[in-house]
Amino acid sequence: MLTPETIRRAPKALLHDHLDGGLRPATVVDLAAEFGYRDLPTTDPAELTRWFTRGADRKSLELYLETFAHTVGVMQERDAITRVAAECAEDLAADGIVYAEVRYAPELSTGRGLTLDEAVEATLDGFRIGAGRAAAAGRPIAMRMLVTAMRQAARSVEVAECAVRWRDAGVVGFDIAGPEAGYRPTRHLDAFDRIRRENFHITIHAGESFGLPSIWEAVQFCGAERLGHGVRIVDDIEVRDDGAVALGRLAAYVRDRRIPLEMCPTSNVHTGAADSIEHHPIDLLRRLRFRVTVNTDNRLMSNVSLSSEFAALDAAFGLGLGEMEWLTINAMKSAFAPFDERLRIINEVVKPGYAHLRAEQSQVLAVPA
Ligand SMILES: [Zn+2]
Repeated sequence: MLTPETIRRAPKALLHDHLDGGLRPATVVDLAAEFGYRDLPTTDPAELTRWFTRGADRKSLELYLETFAHTVGVMQERDAITRVAAECAEDLAADGIVYAEVRYAPELSTGRGLTLDEAVEATLDGFRIGAGRAAAAGRPIAMRMLVTAMRQAARSVEVAECAVRWRDAGVVGFDIAGPEAGYRPTRHLDAFDRIRRENFHITIHAGESFGLPSIWEAVQFCGAERLGHGVRIVDDIEVRDDGAVALGRLAAYVRDRRIPLEMCPTSNVHTGAADSIEHHPIDLLRRLRFRVTVNTDNRLMSNVSLSSEFAALDAAFGLGLGEMEWLTINAMKSAFAPFDERLRIINEVVKPGYAHLRAEQSQVLAVPA
């Protein structure tokens, strides 16, 4: 089994992480005091951490999403958003992540008068500050933003246009998130059309709490280049008693076209999309060589890091460094940053990083007893 330290030091890439799902608990408490947010269930950071995790682990996406009222509640001012984004970059870099796309729905921060553009700008400022501090500490990280629209709201066209306005300043794509049942992706077709006409990028939360129709619409109607979660694609895969596997048309399309799945194992256990890590469809999907990537979703609510997710997968399925590198290269190939930047990170950071760790491991093994 890989040690926690090896996993942390291994270069990693993260494609699915929510800014409002990854605050430091102490920062939530600080910001609530600073900006007069009075609804926190407790002001003790340790108790608050437990409260968030308990709130998240209720086997329902809708209940899981309720916990975000308190993080979004303290993200209504420019300085608060910038601090959260800077700490996000620092925390991800400290976890050994070298490339991250972190998403946020700016419409959630407009409660006290910020505009969508101000919320996006504050996020990008924070990423720059945090990445600067991380680089100074010897842990360079490339931070990019995905701009999200909430699927139950009606601002997706406006949000999509905002995403495009910031494309040269660090925004690399557009997403929709929120409750899936009852809010199919095609509800936001105008927004996706706007993005596609601009030759910009789309990822869609689909196949998390709702099944194949949501994935099908996301890919075939809305132009999703990646799928957020996508776990329910297993509903289109039949594993027979003799071990033979048959893929339905949609599953075959997703695998053939190498459509990346942004899988978030612990989050799926909390929302009830999977009953345990051991039974998570990620094992079947990676063995069938779908374009699987490993992600955190909400580090605060699920009390995870990307390293802890890899550790859990390694414990359940024996990933080893080889599979971890494959999953990381999958993520880098699927990133929305330009091709030359992705290639540089793969060749100059990821591959040498894993080669170095493998050499260390073989030295350890070669030491005579
Ligand atoms: Zn998500």
